[in-house]
Amino acid sequence: MAVPARRTSKAKKAKRRTHYKLSVPGMSTCANCGEMKRSHHVCPACGHYDGKDVKTTEA
Ligand SMILES: [Zn+2]
Repeated sequence: MAVPARRTSKAKKAKRRTHYKLSVPGMSTCANCGEMKRSHHVCPACGHYDGKDVKTTEA
C-alpha cells in the first residue's frame, strides 16, 4: 500500500487549509440585501431572486 514519503509539516497543512470554506456550503449572500440565503432559493429577507423581486409579484 502506498504511504506518504514524509510527514506533512504544520506549515504545509495550514497553507492547504487556507482554501477551506469558512461559510456553510450551499449558503450565499443575497445580492439585493446582503442577508445570508440558500443558493438557488428566493431570499427570505427581501424576496429577491436573480436580481428581481419575486415575492411581492406572486403575492
Ligand atoms: Zn435579500
